[in-house]
Amino acid sequence: PIVVNRIAAGEVIIRPSHVVKELIENAMDANSSQIDCVVKEGGIKLIQIKDNGDGIHQNDLIIACKSHTTSKLHELEDLKNMTTYGFRGEALASISHVSHVTLQSKTSDSICAYRAAYNNGQITSKAPHPCAGNKGTVVGVEDLFYNVPLKRKTLRTPREEYEQIVSVMREYAVHHHSISFTCKKLDSNTFDIKTTGKDLKGAILQLYGSFVFTSLLFIPKTTTEACCFETFVTNPSYGDAKSTKLLLFVNHRAVENRAMKKSIEKMYSQYIPQNMHPFVYISIDVPLRNIDVNIHPTKKHVSFLSQDKVIDTISTMIEEELAKWKD
Ligand code: ADP
Ligand code: MG
Repeated sequence: PIVVNRIAAGEVIIRPSHVVKELIENAMDANSSQIDCVVKEGGIKLIQIKDNGDGIHQNDLIIACKSHTTSKLHELEDLKNMTTYGFRGEALASISHVSHVTLQSKTSDSICAYRAAYNNGQITSKAPHPCAGNKGTVVGVEDLFYNVPLKRKTLRTPREEYEQIVSVMREYAVHHHSISFTCKKLDSNTFDIKTTGKDLKGAILQLYGSFVFTSLLFIPKTTTEACCFETFVTNPSYGDAKSTKLLLFVNHRAVENRAMKKSIEKMYSQYIPQNMHPFVYISIDVPLRNIDVNIHPTKKHVSFLSQDKVIDTISTMIEEELAKWKD
């Protein structure tokens, strides 16, 4: 069974940034307002995510890394009204099959924190040890893929892996701008990400400020017949000349959608010089019944019903803004 689990883990966790994604999603599911990430050697040696959320109860710590352990899904029906990122109870289990995991957690009704280590889904001691700690959870993931040498070989340099981690955190930090995020390397005194609960525009400037040269264009929450997209902020001069930066969130999940990207690039090409590329943030809310709910952690591409119409509506609205900006 361990071999099978290791293969299953490989499907979801291919790079350190995938671990970070799962852990910050758990922290957000636990209602955290502060999420701090510390990384050593691009996350290969250590990823530590600390949050100030609800915490994990002492008794639940025993099974937290077991497959199918989840506190989030009570009825199958709930899948249709999902408001949390997690629901399968697989992330911690998967991660603990390919690394050394420690959890430290304190709930508000407990007088102290508890700490435990895990291997292959199992707690390594009889019970969690009491220890000092604040309300919330600290997850440590060490020596990623120590037992899967082939996986380890496919990793890029620590620098590249770290850049990927920062990039994932930035996207979440923009979308969840009321949460404060930090990210730094273990031995460094400077933060590579540090947000302080700003509004959306403030968060974009904090996180992508060096790219966003001119004033941001903002299109507030809009509901149309075709789609229920919420807000987006866009700028015609994203400074990184290499490619378009599209932060697309559908129902609060960061996703990719080629058709959307193409449409936006085409529209922007009429307004900006050829060597410049746009920065665009779009958040769309689509009723779950209109979504291809084939949710798989690695499946970043989503499609939804009447997609063409949604893309068309959003592109048109951006274009109207760009036309104004040009005058
Ligand atoms: P899922 O998120 O799909 O439920 P995970 O394997 O990611 O599965 O997490 C398992 C369970 O551990 C969660 O359902 C939650 O109860 C608990 N948990 C994990 N991380 C945290 C955290 N940072 N704060 C509070 N609870 C957590
Ligand atoms: Mg989860």
